[in-house]
Amino acid sequence: TPIPDYLDELLDSLRADTSGTTAQYIPELAQANPDLFALSVTTATGSTYSAGDHLEEFTIQSISKPFAYAAAIMDRGLNRVLRSVGVEASGEAFNELSLEEGTHRPENPMINAGAIMTHGLLVAEDASSEARVARVLELFSQLAGRELCIDETVYASEMETADRNLATAHMLRSYGILGADAHEVVSGYTRQCSILVTVEDLSLMSATLANGGVQPRTRERVLSEGIAQQVMSVMAVAGMYDAAGDWLTRVGIPAKSGVAGGLVGVLPDQVGIGAFSPRLDAHGNSQRAGRAFERLSTDMGMHLFAPS
Ligand code: GLN
Repeated sequence: TPIPDYLDELLDSLRADTSGTTAQYIPELAQANPDLFALSVTTATGSTYSAGDHLEEFTIQSISKPFAYAAAIMDRGLNRVLRSVGVEASGEAFNELSLEEGTHRPENPMINAGAIMTHGLLVAEDASSEARVARVLELFSQLAGRELCIDETVYASEMETADRNLATAHMLRSYGILGADAHEVVSGYTRQCSILVTVEDLSLMSATLANGGVQPRTRERVLSEGIAQQVMSVMAVAGMYDAAGDWLTRVGIPAKSGVAGGLVGVLPDQVGIGAFSPRLDAHGNSQRAGRAFERLSTDMGMHLFAPS
């Protein structure tokens, strides 16, 4: 079986890279087994190939951001969402306390300020905190094609050290951008980040984007084509934070990372990719998952702008 053998070989070729560290600012993530390594590719037609620790569950963290953005656009419309969250590259770290000059919007939905704002837009103006969390859990489950759940231990652990995200939410409120209660929104956003997934779930979620919004295995239309397009575009612009330009030019696969070590990538009409390895580089992106994407890009000619 050539594809699984290739994926196994790819992981083996990178196992010796033990650079970086697990996320230190969330106690529960700091303790993760750093040696776990997994990769999964799902084609836009619904065939999945996985290797390594592909049954291992980990928290989705910032990989939730593009999918929550899709939910907010479905619930409130693109124009309403754009009034509160921009689509420009910020060139800044994921947790930077920064807003666009003039509008005071967060620059994009991939940095924490934009993702916290996006979470606050979910469902409706006056939605309850529970309703917002239920909304993302429902959509993510449809995208993965199975019922996902929340890791309450990781949630509680992150809430103990959430001062920076709370400061961000209060800043958004002080400019009148965020209407909802700051503590409730950060708590809901943190639950959203604590949804448990495997690399296979991630590859199916992104294969749904690649397939224009139709889940390739359940055949359910989960997102409109326009929303899938908007989400993939924003991933290309800002999914890798202050490494986004370097990533798009070198690897050429629109992607989104999470501090638990997950990485999701998408190639329109072709594949969704999920990878997992808990040690992070200086930008907070998974070191070995990034290198696995690099190899896929070179070996399989996956760069978005590579001449075919
Ligand atoms: N929950 C994390 C946070 O808000 C997500 C960050 C990330 O994955 N980059 O800090």
